Amino acid sequence: MKKLFNVIVLLAGGALFLNAQQKNPESTELWEPVPPIVTPGEGTQAPSDAIILFDGKNLDQWQTDKGAPAAWTVAEGALTVKPGTGTIQTKLPFGDCQLHIEFREPTVITGDGQMRGNSGIFLQGLYEVQVLDCYNNVTYSNGQTGSLYKQHIPLVNACKKPGDWQTYEIIYTAPRFSEKGRVMIPAYVTVIHNGVLVQNHIALLGTTEYIGLPKYKSHDLKLPIVLQDHGNLVSFRNIWIREL
Ligand code: MG
Repeated sequence: MKKLFNVIVLLAGGALFLNAQQKNPESTELWEPVPPIVTPGEGTQAPSDAIILFDGKNLDQWQTDKGAPAAWTVAEGALTVKPGTGTIQTKLPFGDCQLHIEFREPTVITGDGQMRGNSGIFLQGLYEVQVLDCYNNVTYSNGQTGSLYKQHIPLVNACKKPGDWQTYEIIYTAPRFSEKGRVMIPAYVTVIHNGVLVQNHIALLGTTEYIGLPKYKSHDLKLPIVLQDHGNLVSFRNIWIREL
């Protein structure tokens, strides 16, 4: 009998203790870890923890796919495709990241559809966020500005007119592969174009292929970012990245 009494007292005490805990606001506060301090940039400045990939002065952070100096044109704070010289890529490899990049479409219009102001930002050199002049220019929807090329149509067309600087904020999570090379977690991409959400945490189906279907092939967790030479005089500026 005494035993039972003790058990009841113990249970009641425990319930009272739990009840007090649930009513205590401090019980749901987490004080660790403390997020590191990042100083946001003023205007178009990069935040304090960003790696600057292009600040308008030189191509020190870039090279060709053969490791030679990048041959694109740097003038008046901008980097412009030099048609025929090929893609350029970052010397550093990147995986999960927040990428800020600004681009400008040429005011001299020389083509239609995919031939107008085409370039691209290849995350890990494999997954293209399309750069195209889609201001009064019709092309296939899954190949227009802000598309994840031939995989995901952008939610809206937020293009500015040729000659205006435009921004991309890209949030990227690299795919994860098993030891046997099977994709375990796909790549995820969010794209904000000129402040407008155009891709909302989209799972990629694989590499962004020009011909054929996307497919995954196992690769490193970090690979260079590639900018496309599609023969058009597209310019870039203010490129920075935060590794996540
Ligand atoms: Mg392209």
